[in-house]
This record gives sequence, C-alpha cells and structure tokens, in this order.
Amino acid sequence: MGNIAIDGPAGAGKSTIAKIVAKKKGYIYVDTGAMYRAMALYMIREGIEATETDKIESACDKADISIKYENDEQVVTLNGENVNGLIRTEEVSNMASATSVNGKVREKLVALQQKLAKETDVVMDGRDIGTVVLPDAPCKIYLTASDDVRAKRRFDELTAKGVECDLNEIKKDIIERDCRDMNRAISPLKRAEDAVFLDSSNLTVDEVVNKIIEIAG
Ligand code: C5P
Repeated sequence: MGNIAIDGPAGAGKSTIAKIVAKKKGYIYVDTGAMYRAMALYMIREGIEATETDKIESACDKADISIKYENDEQVVTLNGENVNGLIRTEEVSNMASATSVNGKVREKLVALQQKLAKETDVVMDGRDIGTVVLPDAPCKIYLTASDDVRAKRRFDELTAKGVECDLNEIKKDIIERDCRDMNRAISPLKRAEDAVFLDSSNLTVDEVVNKIIEIAG
C-alpha cells in the first residue's frame, strides 16, 4: 500500500497540504484530528471535564464516531450527526488535545484509522500516524513551521470564517497544545525515525505539495 503519513504540530498546514496531495495521487484524505475533535465535542456536550478520566472512558462506549465521504469531503459523524461545522472552535481544539492523552480514546480512534487505511490508499494526517497508526507507511512526512507562522495561519483561517480572535491568544493556545501533544505518555507527537522533516515556514503550499509528491514517488 502506498499510504502517506503526515504528522506535525498544530497549524503546520497538514490538512491543507494533505488534501491536495490526496487529490493529486487519487488517494483518500483522512483527517484524524477531526475524530479527536468529534470525541471532544461529545464530552463538552455531556459536561465532562478533561480531568474526569472515568467519564471520558465511558464516553468512548457511547460516542460512535464514523467517517464518510460526500463530494470528496470527509464528513465526521457523531452518533449519526454530521459535526464538521462544529469542531473547529478553540474550545473543541483544547478539549481534543486534553482528552487525546487518554489511552482508551486513542485505542478507539486508532482502530478506526487503521481500518480506513487497510481499505484504500490514504493520505492521513495527525500526531502519531508515522509512529503508531501506520508505522509501515512507505512515505512519512514530519511537517512543521515556526510558532509565529503557525499562529498567523490559524488566525487568518478563523478571520476568513468571520470568527473574531486574538493572534496572541491563538499563539499561546497552539504552544500549550503542542507542549501537551509532545509530552503525553501515550503516542506523543514526534518525528518518526524514517520521516522526512519539512519546515513550511518559508515555503508556499505548492512547494510543500510538490516536495511530498516527489518524496512519495
Ligand atoms: O490536527 P488537529 O488540530 O485537528 O487535532 C486536534 C487535537 O487532536 C490535537 O491537538 C491532538 O491533541 C489530537 N490528535 C492526536 N492524534 C492525532 C490527531 C489529533 O492526539 N492523530
């Protein structure tokens, strides 16, 4: 299988790049962050706090997360509801990061991700794809960018959607989230030994896409 694994910190441009690479290669794009976000949305709605491990674990049995594709777009469903439009808030980002440290949450979502990658060639992005989810992927990329560039990209993305936000707050949130993602005990974000390191701070989207296509062969 020609799976492509893309890992990296928040706001590195993974999903933008992965979507284009998938289209060019004729692969399916799998956004694993959206799955952690859908789980987080379930917990927010249930009033579960990030510190309530028992409740988080029992939520895993009650929240049915699945993925389908409509008009080339990944749709994440939570107990049958399309939640794509509800999972991009800072509240959900922070809850996803806080609850993704839980082993049961990860076990559930990793199984879903591995099943998808078995069925078809995928470009999958996340934090542990090259290290844990698809350790045998023939092409692994670790995509990053400077803190300032990543914060500005997230700021522009939210502003374009009409969401009022503060650049410094976003930068603080991103750094906090990365710190938690990189230092958690289970499946921390790190570059797989065989992943190609790509810093996109001074590269255009096309340049990053072309580099990955070249690496994937
Ligand atoms: O990629 P995205 O920003 O949507 O991910 C949201 C959060 O989900 C991340 O901060 C991380 O904590 C978690 N995540 C993860 N493993 C993945 C994908 C996302 O732990 N493979």
